[in-house]
Amino acid sequence: MNLRTYFLPFSVALALSARASAPVMATGDQHRVLSVGGAQVIAILDGVQPAVSEALTNIEPSQLAETLAKAGQPNPSPSPVNVYVLRLGERVVLVDAGGGSILPSYRGTLAATLRALGLAPEKVTDVLITHMHADHVGGLLDGTKPMYPNATVHVHANEAKFWLAPELPSRAPEQFRPLILAIQSALSPYAQAGRLKAFEYKAEILPGIVAQDAGGHTPGHAAFLWKQGKETSLFWGDLIHVADVQLANLDVGTRYDSKPADASAMRQRWLSESAQQGWTVLGAHLPYPGVGTIVRDGERYQWRPIGAGR
Ligand SMILES: [Zn+2]
Repeated sequence: MNLRTYFLPFSVALALSARASAPVMATGDQHRVLSVGGAQVIAILDGVQPAVSEALTNIEPSQLAETLAKAGQPNPSPSPVNVYVLRLGERVVLVDAGGGSILPSYRGTLAATLRALGLAPEKVTDVLITHMHADHVGGLLDGTKPMYPNATVHVHANEAKFWLAPELPSRAPEQFRPLILAIQSALSPYAQAGRLKAFEYKAEILPGIVAQDAGGHTPGHAAFLWKQGKETSLFWGDLIHVADVQLANLDVGTRYDSKPADASAMRQRWLSESAQQGWTVLGAHLPYPGVGTIVRDGERYQWRPIGAGR
């Protein structure tokens, strides 16, 4: 296993600006309140990472240039870090926790946005983690303390086993040790308090929310299928990093995929199923707010955003 693939050399850029449209119940620069399957979901922009062409794999420069030209982009669009907040009865649930401040040049704004919305971090009861890359778990930590002191953190058993292995820092290339230790420190307060809960694929983690196999990007990469009556939505983490490119070229992965063939197979499986079923998809790195539907277009897919404007 090449440990280099696990650690992301992220730095950060700009905030996304946004434009106009419909089923948005409220807007702000850093959040959108949307109706998903009749329930209120808040999409929060934790931050933005620059999308660098060099991170993409399995694509020739000429093919990349052609794809971007068709999309009207000189470069791949920056990659947002979206986090979702939903209520399940009395529960306040986060899907992923953003990057917080454990990455060298990234400062996540999730907690500040939650507070501005009157949602104190103490009110969060559950955090569903798609995987344990730093841009998804860094925000669990507030300095040296848990950001969400009353929350149970749910993560796939294989993911926890890999990342929390005590020997991982010494096994990894030296330059990645600080980041691994930071990831471990983000989870350890929850583990010590008995509030880190491992799940398996197909498990119903919370009422109506079932973990799905999206493994390949990381050992326990998960998606979450949320059924509300007849409505189904799918939350995913890193099946897509650069929508402009990967929806048009399904074999294109990133250097961050630990098992590229599995990651590619999972990307195709969930794109296909989302399109066939007409599910609402909510994606961590889909164009902010990352909520919409997937439409098949021959050998490629199109992204139809919901609530992308303001
Ligand atoms: Zn990510």
